[in-house]
Amino acid sequence: MKKMKYVLVTGGVVSGLGKGVTASSIGLLLKACGLRVTSIKIDPYLNSDAGTMSPFEHGEVFVLDDGGEVDLDLGNYERFLDVKLTRDNNITTGKIYQYVLDKERRGDYLGKTVQVVPHITDAIQEWIERVAMIPVDGKEGPADVCVIELGGTIGDIESMPFIEALGQFSYRVGAGNFCLIHVSLVPVLNVVGEQKTKPTQHSVRGLRGLGLTPNILACRSTTALDENVKEKLSQFCHVSAEHIITLYDVPNIWHIPLLLRDQKAHEAIFKVLNLLGTAKEPSLKEWTARAEICDTLHEPVRVALVGKYTGLSDSYLSVLKALLHASVACRKKLVVDWIAASDLEDVTETENLDAYKAAWKLLKGADAVLVPGGFGDRGVQGKILAAKYARENGIPFLGICLGMQIAVIEYARSVLGLKDANSTEFDSNTRNPCVIFMPEGSKTHMGGTMRLGSRRTYFQVMDCKSVKLYGNRRFIDERHRHRYEVNPDMVAHLENAGLSFTGKDETGCRMEIVELHDHPYYIGAQFHPEFKSRPGKPSALFLGLIAAACGQLDAVLQGCESREKVSCDIGNCLNSNKKVYQKNVNGYATKHANIIGDAAIYSYCNGVHS
Ligand code: GLN
Repeated sequence: MKKMKYVLVTGGVVSGLGKGVTASSIGLLLKACGLRVTSIKIDPYLNSDAGTMSPFEHGEVFVLDDGGEVDLDLGNYERFLDVKLTRDNNITTGKIYQYVLDKERRGDYLGKTVQVVPHITDAIQEWIERVAMIPVDGKEGPADVCVIELGGTIGDIESMPFIEALGQFSYRVGAGNFCLIHVSLVPVLNVVGEQKTKPTQHSVRGLRGLGLTPNILACRSTTALDENVKEKLSQFCHVSAEHIITLYDVPNIWHIPLLLRDQKAHEAIFKVLNLLGTAKEPSLKEWTARAEICDTLHEPVRVALVGKYTGLSDSYLSVLKALLHASVACRKKLVVDWIAASDLEDVTETENLDAYKAAWKLLKGADAVLVPGGFGDRGVQGKILAAKYARENGIPFLGICLGMQIAVIEYARSVLGLKDANSTEFDSNTRNPCVIFMPEGSKTHMGGTMRLGSRRTYFQVMDCKSVKLYGNRRFIDERHRHRYEVNPDMVAHLENAGLSFTGKDETGCRMEIVELHDHPYYIGAQFHPEFKSRPGKPSALFLGLIAAACGQLDAVLQGCESREKVSCDIGNCLNSNKKVYQKNVNGYATKHANIIGDAAIYSYCNGVHS
C-alpha cells in the first residue's frame, strides 16, 4: 500500500497570521500538481467541538455534511480544495481526552496509569492516521497527502501534547513522508524600515526545542523578503534559502496559492516528501484568472447584511464567501453594508437617533438584503423590519435559517394581520406560533435536539426561481443547523395568502424553502446554502440574489430554463450566458470571462453547486 504523506503547518510569533489560509493554499497547490489532498485541523482548546462557542468571539461555527460543528478553518479547506470533510477532521483537546477517558472507563488500559505521554499522544497519532485515510474528494481510496494545521502558536501551553505527539509522529511515518512548514512573521520597523528576523529566529528555536525541525519557512511580511534577509534567516534557522517563502500582502486571499507557486513552494515540499518527478507542474489557470478578475471588478453590488454579530466579520465568514463567489460570477465588486439589526428598531430611534438613521440609510441604499442565521431574540424586530422593507419595495432578499423564519413571521404579521405571530423561540406564549420547536428526535429531551448536517429538500413546484437556480433538480442536499421550524399547521393559511413553500423535506412537514412569486427575488431557506458555495461554483440561492441585485436574474434563469436542454446541450446554455457575463466586464477581466463564466454557469446549470 502506498504511504500517506503529511504536511504539518505550524505558526509562530503571533496569532492571526493567516495560517489557515496558508495551509489551505498549500493544499490547493498540491492538488493543482495532480495530488489528492485531505486535511486535518487541530484546535488545542478544551471544547469537544465549536458548536458551543460564540461566533462573536471565535468566528462562525462551520457545519459539515455529517453534522459536525467545526472550526471555520475547515470551511477554508472545503472551499479551497473542493472537498467534503468529516467531523473527525477537526481534532480538539476535548475530543482526544474524551476518547482516552472513555477507553479508561471501559478498562481498556488494563490497570495502567493513564498519562499524557504515551496515552494522549498515542491517541492523537492514531486519530491522525485514521482520519487521513478517509476519502474526502468523492473518489475511492485515501488521498496522497494530508495537510495538518496545528492551531495556536508554538509555545502555547495547551498545544504541548500535540507538539509532542507530532514530534513522535514524524519519526513514526519516517523521513520523506513528513514535511513541516512553519508560518512566521517578519515585521518591518518603521523607524529603520528594516525587515526584522529575530522573532522568526526565536520561534524556530522554540520549535526545535520542542523536537520539531522546520523544512520550510513561510514568512508573512508586508513586502517580499530581501535576499540578505533570507540569507540571514537561512543561516540562523538552518533552512535553505530556497525553502524560505515570503507571503507578502496581496489584494485578496486567492493570490496566496499563486504566491506559493511562484516561489516554487511545491518543489520544496516535493523535495522533502520524495515526490520530485512524480507530481506534475501546478495547473492553476482558472484559479489565477479568478484571483485577477476579482482585483479588477469595480462596479459595486451593495448587500445589506442585517445581523447580530456585526462586530466581527468572521462570524459570518461563509456567508461573505458565498456572496463573493456569486458577485465574482456576476462580475460585480461586492460591497457588504453591515447593519446591526437592533439599530433598525424603534427603540434605537429614541435612544440613539444617529445610529437609527445610519442603519436605515444603509438599508435603503442596498441592492439586496440578506438576513443570515442566528439564535436568541436580540435584533429580531430589526430583522423583521428589514424583511418587510425588502418585500414591500421589491428589493432582492435572501433569508437564511433564522432569516427564513423571520420572513415567515413578517408575512404572518403584515399580510395575515396576525400581530403577535412569532417563533416560540422568542415568545413561548404567542397565540400565533408560526415557527415552533420541532425536534427530529425526542420532544422532551433538550440535549442534542438540533437538526444538524445534510438533509434533503424536495422541490414542490417546477416553476419557481429556486428550482431553476438549482438546475431544475427534483431534490437537493444542503446543510442545516437549527431547532425551530415553520409550523406545519399554519402553512395552508400562509400559502393562501401568497407565500409559497417551494421546498420541503421528504415528509412534507418541514418547510425548507419559501418564496414570493410576485417579487423580483424573495427567498428564504431553512438550510444554510453558504456552507457549500465554492469559488467558481457559487451557491444557487446566492447567485440568484446577486444576479437579481444587478439586473441579471432573468438571463441567469433563462440559461437554465429547460433542464432537458441543459443536460443534453450544456454548450448552448454556456454560450447564451456568456453574453451576460461579459457585460460589465472590463480590461483584463474580459480576457478571462469565459473561463470563470463557464465554471459558474456550468455549476448552476448542472446543479453542481457544492
Ligand atoms: N434560532 C433558529 C433555530 O434554532 C435559527 C437557527 C439558525 O439560524 N441557525 O431554529
